[in-house]
Amino acid sequence: MIKTGAEHLESLRDGRVVYIGREKVTDVTNHPAFRHAAQSIADIYDLKADPANRDSMTFEDNGTRYSLYFKRAHSRDDLAARTAMHRAIAATSHGLLGRSPDHVASFVTGMSTAPEVFGAFAGNLTAYYQHMRANDIYAAYAVIPPQAARNPEFYQKQNLPIPTLRVVREDDDGLVISGMKMLATGAVIANEIWIGNLIPLAPNQLAESVTCAVPCNAPGLTLWARKPLELGAQVEFENPLTYRFDETDSMVMCDQVKVPWEKVFVHNDAVLARDIYIKTPAHCYGNHQSNVRFHTKMQLLVGLASRITQASGADQIPAVRETLGRLAALEATLGGMIAGQLQDAEAWPAGHTTFNRRYMYAALNWCTENHSAIIDIVRELCGGGVFQMPADISVMQDPELRAQFETFWQTPQMGAVARMKLFKLAWDLVGSEFAGRHQQYEKFYAGASFIIRNHSYREAPWAHFHKVVDDLMAGYDYPGAPPASDAS
Ligand SMILES: Cc1cc2nc3c(=O)[nH]c(=O)nc-3n(C[C@H](O)[C@H](O)[C@H](O)COP(=O)(O)OP(=O)(O)OC[C@H]3O[C@@H](n4cnc5c(N)ncnc54)[C@H](O)[C@@H]3O)c2cc1C
Repeated sequence: MIKTGAEHLESLRDGRVVYIGREKVTDVTNHPAFRHAAQSIADIYDLKADPANRDSMTFEDNGTRYSLYFKRAHSRDDLAARTAMHRAIAATSHGLLGRSPDHVASFVTGMSTAPEVFGAFAGNLTAYYQHMRANDIYAAYAVIPPQAARNPEFYQKQNLPIPTLRVVREDDDGLVISGMKMLATGAVIANEIWIGNLIPLAPNQLAESVTCAVPCNAPGLTLWARKPLELGAQVEFENPLTYRFDETDSMVMCDQVKVPWEKVFVHNDAVLARDIYIKTPAHCYGNHQSNVRFHTKMQLLVGLASRITQASGADQIPAVRETLGRLAALEATLGGMIAGQLQDAEAWPAGHTTFNRRYMYAALNWCTENHSAIIDIVRELCGGGVFQMPADISVMQDPELRAQFETFWQTPQMGAVARMKLFKLAWDLVGSEFAGRHQQYEKFYAGASFIIRNHSYREAPWAHFHKVVDDLMAGYDYPGAPPASDAS
């Protein structure tokens, strides 16, 4: 099934409970904090449903069409089709929706290529994959324990529940879970939440190892949204990015939420809870989307940097051109890293093909390390221009102010209104609260940097690297050393 945007919006009117502070929101599609972000996701659904995009955004299996992000790759061409689909989806938000519907869906699709990893729950995982694609589900995920959970003794001493989400009861018809998980980006405007553990658990954390899927309207589940930035951006001209792309982040609170057995994928297994992401292509499929999404955002950043310098004529200065050349080189570097993931694709798991894992982690690490520095370069190119604009565009409604504004704020290269539009966009990308949230997102969405580097460490061919060193050293010795066969 391929949902339309209108059908997706309708599916969100399901009685879910979202808190903005103490305000309880039940219809996110009409609330000024979430409605434009919800529409941006609906636009992605419409993109997929457009017959003109049938072959690039959907695929057929047994006579039914599904969204292409549910396609399991058996060849490099299949992977290339996935990459192109991620690019088309990222383009709708210029890479500013991190957890678009193709992210978690790619995780689950990657898992479905190796369901045997799930042991007794393999059938559940396969059925969930089929449920997701059959109903064109948009899932978010919360796979990190809350920071408060790191000191369980603090809670135990006071006889309080430990905050991290866990199984509190097993019934004949399923598990009951309570507690908190972070930080579900997009959950407010999604259909379901995948709950799990992407970072290792201690062997005794059996109750916390639960991995399951819950609908956003599950009884007992509430979403505690961080400050919605869309609320402060009700005029598109002033904050064009915040206005449409604040995808939201929420803590997921569960109070005795019932999870039917068929939606349970890991239970009482602390090692498996994490292995399902890395012993299947899940992490690779999902984070390839992240790489492509970031690359799309890089193109906006580089284009904007150049336009900003054109607005003041600074683009004619050799030092400024060098900076722009550097930015363009950084954009191309990431493009090359993404292309390499296809070029050196892996025949893994059996009968399937996966993006090159090491290159994917390298790109993830590169993005995490470089985002702040790239933003800083663009900020530097903006100069004080972003603060030289009037507070808002209402100046144009006053004939006297308008005349002054149009005369004094223009440059030889650009009219006053066009400059204001450009600088408002630039500030929303590099300096606004939305931009600040993005800075934090790019640092942490795949885990803190030491976690990303651990993935790279795990996948590196250390035996090969060591052999290179050992072979080199085997080729020489100190003068007069006994022949190798005599050495004891
Ligand atoms: C905007 C945003 C969106 C997010 N979206 C999602 C989402 O959709 N789903 C989801 O599940 N999670 C999401 N996350 C959560 C994200 O996965 C976590 O923030 C991330 O794993 C880091 O955990 P933490 O916030 O507890 O930071 P911490 O782990 O407390 O790290 C904070 C700092 O301490 C350092 N540090 C801590 N421990 C160590 C250590 N052992 N060694 C070295 N340094 C250490 C880190 O490097 C870091 O600088 C999101 C986070 C952000 C900011």
